[in-house]
Amino acid sequence: MENKINRSGTTTALVVLLVFFRLFATGQHSIVDRYGHLSVKGSYLLSEKGDTVQLRGMSFFWSQWMPQFYNADCVQWLKDDWKCTIVRAAMGVEKGGYLTNPEKEKETIQKVIDAAIAQGLYVIIDYHSHEAHTNPDAAVVFFAEMAKKYGAYPNVIYELYNEPLADPSWSEDLKPYAEKVLKEIRKHDPDNLVIMGTRQWSQKVSEVIADPITDPNIAYALHFYAHTHRQWLMDEARKAMESGLALFVSEMGTCDASGNKFFNPKETQKWFDFMDQYKLSWCNWSVCDKEETASVLKPGVSATGNWKEEELTESGILIRNELILKNTPLLKTPVLKAGAKK
Ligand code: MG
Repeated sequence: MENKINRSGTTTALVVLLVFFRLFATGQHSIVDRYGHLSVKGSYLLSEKGDTVQLRGMSFFWSQWMPQFYNADCVQWLKDDWKCTIVRAAMGVEKGGYLTNPEKEKETIQKVIDAAIAQGLYVIIDYHSHEAHTNPDAAVVFFAEMAKKYGAYPNVIYELYNEPLADPSWSEDLKPYAEKVLKEIRKHDPDNLVIMGTRQWSQKVSEVIADPITDPNIAYALHFYAHTHRQWLMDEARKAMESGLALFVSEMGTCDASGNKFFNPKETQKWFDFMDQYKLSWCNWSVCDKEETASVLKPGVSATGNWKEEELTESGILIRNELILKNTPLLKTPVLKAGAKK
């Protein structure tokens, strides 16, 4: 027990040191220096100073199946070369994940969380499950630990439930689950942004309109795979946003909803336009070299970044180009301190 406490204290001290080193030794400003603590206002995400925030970045793959990519060098490459402003640590829960090996899975995702904090990126702690509401106690224990450890960092966003299936009810199953987990998070972290999944693989966002969760800093997950989910899902999203709900595209793909086949740049572009219009933040699925269309990497590439263009898939090239195109101007603009003289 004592060892664990010491280890966690050392990790926290290292992260704090790295943050100070980056700020004062390099003079560089990160996206988190720019925006600080995030909060929801109506359907928008705002920075600490009140700017409208749109984050764009990458989701890692299920932690139990692609743990090799969960490392600080990979995070650094995604920040420096891909210009990500956010990454998502997708901790597998069932299927040999957290419920089977809690310490191992936590250790895996914490490599990404700690690296994102040290490098000034936003990071989503994603409870990657399709059935989390059937075991809320496990989620309560997990998020209590995460909120205690990371709640003071503005970098951290909690995603309570990746994608509920179509069967559960929003009001009877999913909302009570979210309230239970949220109550525990708020004991330790009163203010960081929380994302809650919605029914049918995080698509039925309009069902929340009649029965929202009462927390001032919550957004609802909208997930799409561009080849499968088209105009009707944009209409569903628009309806929710026009009623004042905030949405967060914590997972999106350029292909078929299965993650494989039908790479569709044309439909993906329509979604990029839609997300820019509504200032929706997004993470692409996924940092992974599995042989399937949604992967951004070809099989067998390095797990620590330094990827050449020919090592990226067609989806990887499209996403990297979009990230560089849209995030670079923002990262190049200097952060102004309030009251700074010209
Ligand atoms: Mg906090």
